[in-house]
Amino acid sequence: MELKLPIYLDNNATTPMDPRVLETMLPYFVEKFGNAASRNHSFGWVAEEAVDYSREQVAKLINADPKEIIFTSGATEADNLALKGVYEMYATKGNHIITCTTEHKAVLDTCKHIEKTGGQVTYLNVKADGLIDLNELEKAITEKTILISIMYGNNETGVIQPVQEISKIARKHGVLFFTDATQAVGKIPVDVNADGIDLMAFSAHKMYGPKGVGALYVRRKNPRVKVTSQMDGGGHERGMRSGTLNVPGIVGLGKACEICMQEMDTEAKRLSKMRDRLEVSLMEMEETYVNGSREHRLPHTANISFKYVEGEGLMMGFNKNIALSSGSACTSASLEPSYVLKALGLGDDLAHSSLRFGLGRFTTDEQIDFTIDAIKNTVNKLREMSPLWEMFKEGVDINAIEWEHH
Ligand SMILES: *Cc1c(COP(=O)(O)O)cnc(C)c1O
Repeated sequence: MELKLPIYLDNNATTPMDPRVLETMLPYFVEKFGNAASRNHSFGWVAEEAVDYSREQVAKLINADPKEIIFTSGATEADNLALKGVYEMYATKGNHIITCTTEHKAVLDTCKHIEKTGGQVTYLNVKADGLIDLNELEKAITEKTILISIMYGNNETGVIQPVQEISKIARKHGVLFFTDATQAVGKIPVDVNADGIDLMAFSAHKMYGPKGVGALYVRRKNPRVKVTSQMDGGGHERGMRSGTLNVPGIVGLGKACEICMQEMDTEAKRLSKMRDRLEVSLMEMEETYVNGSREHRLPHTANISFKYVEGEGLMMGFNKNIALSSGSACTSASLEPSYVLKALGLGDDLAHSSLRFGLGRFTTDEQIDFTIDAIKNTVNKLREMSPLWEMFKEGVDINAIEWEHH
């Protein structure tokens, strides 16, 4: 079969929807269009039934009770609701939140907002492997601490934090534990009880469901957790998130969860095997480095730096054929490279020379073969043209050079 180009390797940004999910959603646009809050007729009952069923599918995937699922517009909203909601609800207990520097912007920017309204936030550093230091976490807890917010798996590096150890520390000190698990749910086993999670955010479009729908898990017992609503109105979702429910989206999220649960074991093995093959092949080149722990990592993610090559240039070399993300900021106005890679201690040069490979359900072995060849060719070609590479090959210690400043 001929390989179709371009190849999509940016599944950490978003995933294509699984056709089985679309099929499940379709009747809920035109035919079964009811408002799930309409109690007086069958249109409403049909919609409510579909939402209830989806709530069960979602809960099952993470071993929660369906009553603990609050549907939102995605993980960004769920992150906001968890952080601001806990901050407001537990204001009499304290105003201190602990998070870390490699969190998604939806968490970091929400924390910045909370700081502006009088909250105190500690941003833990990570070690070179991307993991937080558990001793530092415990030391950061004060009697004012109400929440620990540490992500499950990182979107740029795939590094998985020691969630069970974090929750034990949180429990011991009577502090709530929230995790942004957007990259982990549906990909690896996530169990809110075994993992000791009190609140958890995730999103449908990162797990082959539709965009614009996600959920916040909020624990109902041991302890019973409450969040102040950030969206006021009709009192939907037990008063924690008002607004007419996105029934087709919710149905899609439910189906996406069901498929992920059924296929997780085989799919995680398939993806990590492909990812490892990609990584090992690329590592055959000199001065090529994997960023973040290779042991504690999501199965579908690899973040690799190709020293002496600029990520954006690399992207241009094969851009039309492979769709992925680089650690050089091209989305923002700044020229700052990825803050996540810098937090791991990478210099600007290595951070700028990184690529993030996000494999997914529709990634094939043929696509990985093509990618290995294309990247190797481009890296080699660019290095041949690079004066820095030439100096490196001649044995010049590039770090010792005193650059002339103008
Ligand atoms: C994609 C992502 C988000 C944002 O999710 P949306 O549903 O697009 O709002 C938040 N956190 C992480 C870790 C993500 O990967």
